[in-house]
Amino acid sequence: MTGPTGDEEAAFSAAELAAGDRLFLRPWRFVKGVIGIEHLPPGDRPEVAFAGRSNVGKSSLINALVRKHGLARTSNTPGRTQELNVFEPEPGLVDCYLFDLPGYGFAKAPKAKVDQWTDLVKDYLRGRPTLSRVFLLIDSRHGLKDIDRDIMGMLDASAVTYQIVLTKGDKLNAYKLQAVKTATTQVIAKHPAAFPDVLVTSAEKGHGVPELRATVAQLAGVDLAAAT
Ligand code: GDP
Repeated sequence: MTGPTGDEEAAFSAAELAAGDRLFLRPWRFVKGVIGIEHLPPGDRPEVAFAGRSNVGKSSLINALVRKHGLARTSNTPGRTQELNVFEPEPGLVDCYLFDLPGYGFAKAPKAKVDQWTDLVKDYLRGRPTLSRVFLLIDSRHGLKDIDRDIMGMLDASAVTYQIVLTKGDKLNAYKLQAVKTATTQVIAKHPAAFPDVLVTSAEKGHGVPELRATVAQLAGVDLAAAT
């Protein structure tokens, strides 16, 4: 079936989508902001992380996922936040963490800040066996930039599975969106740690959000039988 993003939607079953709904119908809350890995919460449950260039639409997409404006703070000051922000659903369905990694690639950031970002994120990626997947957000209007490819190289080296999520899909027509999706899929085929399916989303219109919720629910281990 052709979806609103003008493409074949990745196949998710009704039960998988319902599990995603259930996980994100729960209230989510901010756990803490982490500036050094010694402050990370214990790695005792599955977690997913969101990464992307500054302004890619990461906060908007996380807020769309949790249906809560302002949970992930949209930052108008690129590069300001150098924290790993940790979120969790309120107890009940399943225990998991969602990590919002600081945006990278801000043009004016001093080198020291970039190094700090790299060190913090590298330490996190290397030392986190419970990290199930990194969602690497790419602005659909721009496609993969060199800096994104650097991050992909870092993720490949850390052997952390990552999945490309195209953001702001509403800003392109279906033809252009398909072209950027195809081009991205071809690039990631050469990356050993990349998950083969590219998700197309729009936080603004809600496109792809149920599929992203379902993906997180699957990684978090939400019981499918209980979700139907
Ligand atoms: P972040 O820096 O990655 O957290 O990006 P933000 O979530 O703050 O978004 C950056 C800008 O892109 C803001 O002006 C948002 O309103 C806009 N934006 C984010 N998501 C979408 C989307 O799905 N569609 C459109 N049209 N704009 C978006």
